[in-house]
Amino acid sequence: NYRCRSAFKLLEIHEKYKILQPGLRVIDCGAAPGAWSQVAVEKVNSDKADLEAPVGFVVGVDLLQITPLEGAQFLPNTDVTNSTTINKLCDLLPLQGADVILSDMAPNASGIKEMDHEKLISMCMSVLDLAHKVLQPGGTFLCKYWDGWQAPLLKAQLAKCFQHVKTVKPQASRQDSAEVFFLALRYKIK
Ligand code: SAM
Repeated sequence: NYRCRSAFKLLEIHEKYKILQPGLRVIDCGAAPGAWSQVAVEKVNSDKADLEAPVGFVVGVDLLQITPLEGAQFLPNTDVTNSTTINKLCDLLPLQGADVILSDMAPNASGIKEMDHEKLISMCMSVLDLAHKVLQPGGTFLCKYWDGWQAPLLKAQLAKCFQHVKTVKPQASRQDSAEVFFLALRYKIK
């Protein structure tokens, strides 16, 4: 049982691109209530459910509280866009850093489309800054954004440092017309 239907978006993206494998280390930005983290824990085997497979690691960050989840660590009351958050993350992360960075973050929508779009893009840019600090070469980056004029700018930033950048619109998010994901594969820098 997933804590939130958003799990199905990540499952769908994973089905197609196999971004989560046993043993991988994952950062989940905007993790509350924890459904994406549940999917990540299952797929990377951070709860050691599979005794034969490599054991991964999942850390979720959110402004809100998150109910504990076996196999995951959480940083609640934590703003991903705050420059000190990286230090808190590094205290938890394995030495080598992370293999996958996920962001399903969304700001409280003002209702003014263009403003909300710009806010979310700038949050995605913060996640990209974080990636530059902890993502391993070959790593994966998935972020939600609301479509608008700055989306190509974010895509261009991603294209500079990842081998492939795909625009993904899962079936499970068709309801929400503005919501789209960038999936960036194979981090090149570092
Ligand atoms: N992926 C989650 C799941 O499956 O359970 C749902 C995430 S929900 C759509 C978006 C989350 O982003 C909210 O919980 C919100 O508190 C969080 N958020 C928004 N701005 C944030 C920020 N600056 N830092 C950390 N989390 C943030």
